[in-house]
Amino acid sequence: MLLKHTTPKEIDRKSLTINPAKTCQPIGAMYAAFGLNGCLPHSHGSQGCCAYHRSTLTRHFKEPIVASTSSFSEGSSVFGGSANLVQAIDTIFNVYDPLIVAVHTTCLSETIGDDLTQIISKAAEEGKIPEGKMVIHCNTPSYVGSHVTGYSNQVVAFVKFFSTSTMKKRNAVNLVAGWMEPSDMREIKRMAKEMEARTIMFPDMTGVLDTGLTGKYTMYPHGGTTLSDMKATGDSRFTIGLGEYCTTDACIKLENKCKVKFEVVDIPIGLKATDRFVMSLSRHANVPVPDSITEERSKLLDLIADNQKYFYGKRVALFGDPDTLVPLTEFLISLDMKPVYIVTGTPGKGFDERMATLLKDIPEAKYMSGAGADIFRLHQWIKQEGVDMLIGNTYGKYISLDENIPFIRFGFPIADRAGHNYFPKTGYVGATNLTIQILNALMDYQDRTCPEEKVEFQM
Ligand code: SF4
Repeated sequence: MLLKHTTPKEIDRKSLTINPAKTCQPIGAMYAAFGLNGCLPHSHGSQGCCAYHRSTLTRHFKEPIVASTSSFSEGSSVFGGSANLVQAIDTIFNVYDPLIVAVHTTCLSETIGDDLTQIISKAAEEGKIPEGKMVIHCNTPSYVGSHVTGYSNQVVAFVKFFSTSTMKKRNAVNLVAGWMEPSDMREIKRMAKEMEARTIMFPDMTGVLDTGLTGKYTMYPHGGTTLSDMKATGDSRFTIGLGEYCTTDACIKLENKCKVKFEVVDIPIGLKATDRFVMSLSRHANVPVPDSITEERSKLLDLIADNQKYFYGKRVALFGDPDTLVPLTEFLISLDMKPVYIVTGTPGKGFDERMATLLKDIPEAKYMSGAGADIFRLHQWIKQEGVDMLIGNTYGKYISLDENIPFIRFGFPIADRAGHNYFPKTGYVGATNLTIQILNALMDYQDRTCPEEKVEFQM
């Protein structure tokens, strides 16, 4: 009983979060920075922050996460980190030779009030930034928002520093990827290729955080959005943002800067969200939906129809990021399941509004976002009335063990299982993977817990 002290009775609390359903802003900025080819993320703050962010990403991706830090001391905490950052930029280019350095702030440098624009200009004036190399930056104070906000801020910085309009439109559609796995991005790019749509995805972590073992270490793997593609996003005919929280600001920035119109759709998780993505891409890239994609959809439908009786009425609790929770909730409803408890630590009205619409036919459903929407509260709701399944990151494991609930690992971080790097959850293929995972968890639970005389060979 790892969480035995959790009680069903909720107490009104405003200044206390227990087991937050989010993590800190710079982790998102660091993750997004890996989506640019040849980019080294740089954490402007103390070594401890950078070590925490790196280790969290390493545990999830099982890959070496390389990032540099301004390495604040007591002196820089009092007098500011300008000298540290200028020195760091010099050392980074001399020793590690990236194409781009993406600097993000931490709580400490934000509290001091370090002006990154001014410090990086100083480094440039002093000749610390070699010809053809770039240092970009974004602000990620972790006492507001979450890792999702940090991710969004980094993607906005990509547009701000790189997207360029030459006034000659190209027949390409930008795909701004929200927070998802590299395997999910790979699947979305495969679908776009199948549709013969010309796309530029950014950020793009494929070929960076899902590389194979070759026996040769490469500090900057071949993947990621190239600098020339990133610049060309300003000439694309349209932009599709995948996930409201992670991509809307970047889409708006690109429209304001380069006059590229945009539409934000959900991350294509599940049947309906994938339908919307496919139709959006078909419309804006002016390409038809090929039979091969329709066939993938029909296989998913067949799987759902064949096994509907196992899903029907099952109560589900879930936690994670708003951009994934919204389409996931919608998909669970498509499966005839009942998402009854949903929390995200990331604040924002969009999540509450979408949930109100999606859950209108499930009167017992409860949802919450922001600081008070923590995993402890989700556990309290489960204690009040149980669920048949829990979906979330590794932090949900303790609830699942204590309450003996089938558990699907989904989101970030997943530190105790493999597979998320390999099997996508996006597109019709990803929805098929997810459906099978849910089905197997329910059936395993039934086999494990039913009386001996009720064990069935055929399920
Ligand atoms: S001090 Fe701020 S930036 Fe650093 S690890 Fe803590 S929350 Fe994150």
